[in-house]
Amino acid sequence: MNVRYIDAHCHLQFEQYEKDGEELIEKMSQEGVTGIVVGCDLETSEKAVALAEKYEHLYASVGLHPNNAGHEIFDEEAYRALAMHPKVVAIGECGLDYFRPIEMNDEVKHTQKELLHKHITFAASLNKPLIIHCRPTKGTTDAYRDLIEILKEAKAVHPKLYGDIHFFVGDVEDAHALIALDFTLSFTAVITFARDYDEVIKAVPLASILSETDAPYLAPASRRGKRNDPLAAIEVVNKIAEIRGEDAELVREALLTNAKRVFAL
Ligand SMILES: [Zn+2]
Repeated sequence: MNVRYIDAHCHLQFEQYEKDGEELIEKMSQEGVTGIVVGCDLETSEKAVALAEKYEHLYASVGLHPNNAGHEIFDEEAYRALAMHPKVVAIGECGLDYFRPIEMNDEVKHTQKELLHKHITFAASLNKPLIIHCRPTKGTTDAYRDLIEILKEAKAVHPKLYGDIHFFVGDVEDAHALIALDFTLSFTAVITFARDYDEVIKAVPLASILSETDAPYLAPASRRGKRNDPLAAIEVVNKIAEIRGEDAELVREALLTNAKRVFAL
């Protein structure tokens, strides 16, 4: 397969693809779209690995999402066994989510931070990149502040630590701080209809940007409100080029190179 696009973050193992997943994955192959199938707990991580094993153009990431911190204990040995698979190219999604929990307090934050720490040590021990989910309280960048602090401390202990900040929604300052810590920023198809991300997309180096979809969530303008899929990575790449005022082919090649570098594909 001639790889043209990489969706750095999708959930093809979710039940939303139960009926037509195979067809869709075949279509991805025809369009030259490779996908990183990201786990959110042990079960979805196992399913991600199974898909990556079955299809040449799919890879997997294994980890425990912060919103699942309350209902699963991070079993490092179980995740390590999965991570040994040659198609597991990252650890995550892990991170901080101050947006979604119904009841947000210091204890919830503490639990999320502890879980993130475990993923950091785990990824460092495997020399694999982290896929980080970071969502602040509405109207703030609080989770990014905490994340940057945590990653700074972690870099002092694990200087080679690196990865991708998935669905980046922070400001330019957060973006530069995270890039300085060896993280790329990935953008979803939300950029096709919301203008909140343009400033950051224009402000950061092209080498620090990845394309992603977070499918089945966040469908592009062309099918807003419907189920999303990794083919939307094509629209994401084109929109990034448009926002930056750069040649679409040049941007496509750069984003492909970036993802290959981060995930060692
Ligand atoms: Zn996700």
